[in-house]
Order: sequence, then structure tokens, then C-alpha cells
Amino acid sequence: MQQSEFKIIITQYKDLNELPENDRQLIMAAREIAFSAYAPYSGFKVGAALRMSDGRIITGNNQENASSPVGCCAERTALYWANANFPEKPVLALAITAIDRAGNLAAHLSPCGTCRQALLETEIRFNQPIRVLLDSRNQIDVLNNVKSLLPLSFNGECVI
Ligand SMILES: [Zn+2]
Repeated sequence: MQQSEFKIIITQYKDLNELPENDRQLIMAAREIAFSAYAPYSGFKVGAALRMSDGRIITGNNQENASSPVGCCAERTALYWANANFPEKPVLALAITAIDRAGNLAAHLSPCGTCRQALLETEIRFNQPIRVLLDSRNQIDVLNNVKSLLPLSFNGECVI
């Protein structure tokens, strides 16, 4: 028998001002787009902002539907638009934020499993780690890559 251990490094910041300027910009873009999310059912408005390899910032927000599986998370809204319009450009970083019904930053935030899988595909596709910034009410968690969010992932190697 053998055991393995996964180590995930999360850098936690208490305040937006502690972050490098690039990261701060990305979070502000995510916060801004969150307000225009279409979330009449959950009232949970999520914003995502991607920094592309050319410095461009692409944003997206959640788009809900009366038939809930039809809706799309903010992360995938932004990611698929980026991959559709800039298929040769890697994503360097992603910021995610959410606004609750009361208009406050969400207490905790982390991408759903479906978005983790989608983001990981892009990370693998470009062989480029995507820095992940999770913007919550009392802290900002930063991970160096998407793989940290989805160890033992299903990926292209599984289907060969
Ligand atoms: Zn999601």
C-alpha cells in the first residue's frame, strides 16, 4: 500500500490593497461585471475577469435561466468568450467575485466543479498555469493554478 498527499498553496490577503496592481485591477473588473449578472432566481451575482497573455481583460457574469441547468456560471461565460475570440491566447489569471442579495461581497467563494473542469482544460491546452483569485468578503485567496482546485482531474490523458 502507498499513500499520496496533495499540497495546495493558498496565499491569503486581508485587503485588496495588499495585492499587486495587476491582481487588483482584475478583481475590480470582476466586481464591476458582477452587478450586471442575470441572477433573478438565486440573487447571487457572480463576476469573473480573465487576464489574457496580451494584457487584455475579459469579463463575464452568471446567466441564470428558469430551467436552472441551462444557465451558465460567470467563469465559463468569460472563459468561453475568450477562447472563442482569442483561440491562440492563453489565460494568465482569473478573478472571481460575488455579490449576495444584500449587495455585499459573498462570505466565501470558490468555483463549482463544472467550472473547475472547464478552466483546467484551458490551463492544459495552453500549458499555462492560470493564477486564480477568489475575492470574498473578508479575504482574497490566491492559488497559483487551476490544477490546485481539481487534483485527480479527468483530462485528455484519461481518454487516450
Ligand atoms: Zn461554475
